[in-house]
Amino acid sequence: MQIQGSCHCGNISFGLMWEPEPTEIPARACNCSFCTKHGGVWTSSPTATLAVTVREPALVSKYSFGTSTAVFHICSRCGIVPVVTSEIDNLLYAVVSVNAFNNVPPSLLRRSAADFESENLKSRLARRKRGWIADVRFTAGGA
Ligand SMILES: [Zn+2]
Repeated sequence: MQIQGSCHCGNISFGLMWEPEPTEIPARACNCSFCTKHGGVWTSSPTATLAVTVREPALVSKYSFGTSTAVFHICSRCGIVPVVTSEIDNLLYAVVSVNAFNNVPPSLLRRSAADFESENLKSRLARRKRGWIADVRFTAGGA
């Protein structure tokens, strides 16, 4: 499935090739202090391929907190957070926001609550390496 997503104004957009074809897409409502405030609901598949396009990189605010191992890519024009990345052992992993999807039927989403607050750093990074999108490309200045 080729999933398209973007922030509201289109400055940050992504194409997510989800293979094999999903029968359902996990949608994890994160309860960390940041995601609670903006309603972050994330998904990923270790076998998916993610291509992120940023039209105006100057209009992307990158935010980290806590362990500072995850980077929230916030469109500073419209305030949407379509993607989070984490660099682990020099490889870039990502999750995307199901709220930023443009072409996915809501019935495909399997919503659940996620609680990662009790993880230590080592288990957190290991979980990301297992479950986050491992094939991530960023293109800046694209039309
Ligand atoms: Zn935007």
